[in-house]
Amino acid sequence: MNYVDETISKYEKYINPAQAKLFRFMGLGSIEASAEGWTITDSEGRQFIDCLGGYGMFAIGHRNPKVVEAVEKELHGMPMCGKVLFNRPMADLSEALAEITPGDLQYSFFVNSGTESVEGCLKVARLATKRPKFVAADNAFHGKTMGSLTATGRDLYRDPFQPLLNGFSHVPYGDAEALRAVVDEETAAVILEPIQGEGGIIVPPAGYMKEAKAICEAKGALLIADEVQTGIGRTGEWFGVNHDGVTPDLMACAKALGGGVMPIGAIIGTPRAWQGLIEAPFLHTSTFGGNQLACAAGVAAIKFIKEENVLARGREAGEYFIAGLKKIADEFPSVIKEVRGKGMMIGVELTKEGAGGMLMSLMIDKNIIVAYTLNNPKVIRLEPPLIMPKEVIDHVLEVFHDAVAMTASVIEDL
Ligand code: PLP
Repeated sequence: MNYVDETISKYEKYINPAQAKLFRFMGLGSIEASAEGWTITDSEGRQFIDCLGGYGMFAIGHRNPKVVEAVEKELHGMPMCGKVLFNRPMADLSEALAEITPGDLQYSFFVNSGTESVEGCLKVARLATKRPKFVAADNAFHGKTMGSLTATGRDLYRDPFQPLLNGFSHVPYGDAEALRAVVDEETAAVILEPIQGEGGIIVPPAGYMKEAKAICEAKGALLIADEVQTGIGRTGEWFGVNHDGVTPDLMACAKALGGGVMPIGAIIGTPRAWQGLIEAPFLHTSTFGGNQLACAAGVAAIKFIKEENVLARGREAGEYFIAGLKKIADEFPSVIKEVRGKGMMIGVELTKEGAGGMLMSLMIDKNIIVAYTLNNPKVIRLEPPLIMPKEVIDHVLEVFHDAVAMTASVIEDL
């Protein structure tokens, strides 16, 4: 058996046979071997342009040299924390986050994934307010562990695991009045994504997060911004909440925070939200959380974004990409319903669910990786590195145009 077949057979035998079948069906029968910038190379030497960006993780590209260098340095010193002495990269990353987050967000606790950062925010909110209830949005995606899954707004993922946590309610996303109607004196926190990612790249009306904050404040509840996908530059600002000029009480951050090299998440809070943890710092702990490798990656990623003007580059690249996609949408209204997004967080809503799988396969056939959003298979999401140059975007647009044209010719049958 060759290397590829051997790998797929191990997937079938030891990981999940259905997943292996699905990958093959989508034309993904190859093994990722190396990556750089916006390119992934498979074990056979075939190169793909990565427009999925690891679900938004690769904001500054794959294997960013500055991040790799910082991680290598720690690797030969103190890669994992001993937990008893002070940890300098963790102190540096906390300071860097306090500087780039809005308002009085100041304290950080580090974890290893997005879902853990959401779990932490929920716990900290309950600790700070001593209240039982949470409000989240329909169609939200906050992760798949028990607490974050309870906040996630899609029954497909939730129902097999019922009963989930008590005290959660969901309201339509983007509707401040619906939120006002349910937030009360028993609400610990409202948790919202500034732009819904897996829900289908849904941009709420301008001012929504600001109104949500005011509604929370009026009832003494906290606002948790889930910035796992939108944070660290994805939308062309450091955080999604910056578009509304609002400071949440708690922020969940992950994905791009590790510079695409290390897994890391952060729970970030204001002094008010953090009070309970200040009184009892060991109420929330993590063995791996805050390790030097991951924190050094975070510090290097933030430095790179600042020094290389990545936010402005991401804004510009995103506008260019969206304009190109809108032209294609105008030409093929039978396939594309809408193009939307901010910065390099872009969604293309299709008229039919079946068109998503076809477009994805056609793009992969031409060596461009895209995928649909987890909660909404009708939306193709494009979350390439913010540093992707115009020539590469032009090529992606050309290939996408042809794939949409081909889909248009069979749309009736999908
Ligand atoms: N929150 C949001 C907004 C996300 O988009 C995701 C993942 O896509 C998560 C939380 C969960 O993150 P993770 O997959 O790292 O657990």
